[in-house]
Amino acid sequence: MFKYIKLICYANLDLKTPLCSTITDHELGDCFDWTNARLGADEAISLVSHVLGVSFTELHTNRDRIVSEAQVEQLQIAVRRRLRGEPIAYIVGSQIFHNLTVKVTPDVLIPRFETELLIDIVVHLTPEGGCILDLGTGSGAIAIALSKMNQYRVKAVDNDPNALEVCAENCALNEVAVEIIRSNWYENVDGSFDTIVSNPPYVAPHDPHLNKGDLRYEPRNALVAGGSGLAHLEKVILGAPEHLRSGGWVVVEHGYDQRESVLTLFQNRGFDQIQQRQDYAGIPRIVWGQWNGR
Ligand code: GLN
Repeated sequence: MFKYIKLICYANLDLKTPLCSTITDHELGDCFDWTNARLGADEAISLVSHVLGVSFTELHTNRDRIVSEAQVEQLQIAVRRRLRGEPIAYIVGSQIFHNLTVKVTPDVLIPRFETELLIDIVVHLTPEGGCILDLGTGSGAIAIALSKMNQYRVKAVDNDPNALEVCAENCALNEVAVEIIRSNWYENVDGSFDTIVSNPPYVAPHDPHLNKGDLRYEPRNALVAGGSGLAHLEKVILGAPEHLRSGGWVVVEHGYDQRESVLTLFQNRGFDQIQQRQDYAGIPRIVWGQWNGR
């Protein structure tokens, strides 16, 4: 009989008609199935393992495990938050980036999968032990991923003190020594670097994507830039030569429709070896160029 009721639940995924809208059985398997029916398997795995503190394996091997009333309640609250649109990363408080666990809060952007490509390009361009500057670091994801590789020495810059707190926590969690600097782009930055990398805010103020999905919950100051989204990219690219060693590189992530404008900024500033790359979805996303001094 119980199995039959469950089948009806699955058939009624529209939560506005909440047949069987709460978890009735306090076993791990039922909690997972209930969540899976509402959010799909990937998100159910993240949420259930986070809220109930169980491993991925346990979700499959220990379905009979009894879950406390309080935990069931917490899981239901988490699922409701997700169904209202809150990003899963903010609910669980972390995101995997380049195989690292990065803490995220609503003070920082959620690191994107496509930004991992930025790391691969920087590693390809930067010699072992090189000095790297990450401008607009937010959670510190880029700086931390890079400081784990090739003995790089990394400085991370942001102008938002709340973001810098998250960044510092992430450096401690991931056991890396990144130098954290509060600065409005290059203002408080000394020294010269082998590579400057940046994923600055680049979304245009009236871009309709801002009203969709995760972006609704992310900090506007980390997403939006004036001048059709190019204002900060312009500062990063035009200011770079003063902070680059001869032969050094600037690598930036940009918006889906900004490739030509960004290429022009690199060209007009006198960079060489200018190249661009699409992200995994085939969208123009990254431009880089070399500074040989003019
Ligand atoms: N890539 C983000 C997006 O989803 C924006 C990130 C940024 O502005 N740097 O549009």
